[in-house]
Amino acid sequence: MKQFTLGIIKPDAVKQNVIGEIIKMIEESGIKVKALKLTKLTRETASEFYLVHRDRTFFDSLVEFMISGPIVPMVLEGENVIEKYRKLMGATDHTKADKGTIREKFGTAMEKNAVHGSDSPENAEIEIGFFFTKEELIKVL
Ligand code: UDP
Ligand code: MG
Repeated sequence: MKQFTLGIIKPDAVKQNVIGEIIKMIEESGIKVKALKLTKLTRETASEFYLVHRDRTFFDSLVEFMISGPIVPMVLEGENVIEKYRKLMGATDHTKADKGTIREKFGTAMEKNAVHGSDSPENAEIEIGFFFTKEELIKVL
C-alpha cells in the first residue's frame, strides 16, 4: 500500500552538514522524497509538534533542542513507508540502533538522534499538515 510519512532532519544533523548524506540513504532505500524545505521551529510550534510528550521529563529539553537550529522536514512516499523509514532511522537511542541506520551513523545522544519519523498514518497526516500547506502538496502528492 502506497503511504506517506513525515521525516525531519533535526538540528544536530543539519549542523553536522549531513543533509545530503541522510537524503542519499533515504533515496537508496527506495523511498521517494515528495516535498522538502529548510525551516526553523519556534518554541510555540515545537511544543505543539511534540504535544504528546508534554508530560515527559525530556519535553523542555527536546523543545530547546528542536529550536536550536534549522531543520529539514520532508514528505516521504513508498510502500509501507512509515515502518520502512522508521527501520531506516533505527532505534530512538542511537547506541541501540542497528548498524547501517541513520541514527547509528549520525546520532550522538538520546535526544540528538538526527532524524524524526511519524509513527502511524494518523500522525503522518497531522505532521505533514504541520509543515506543508495543501497548495504545496497538491502539486506533488
Ligand atoms: N527523546 C529524548 N529522551 C527520551 C526519549 C526521547 O530526548 O528518553 C527525544 C528523542 O529526540 C526522540 C524524541 O524525543 O526522537 C521523540 O521521542 P519518541 O519516543 O517519539 O521517539 P522516536 O519516535 O523519535 O523514535
Ligand atoms: Mg515518536
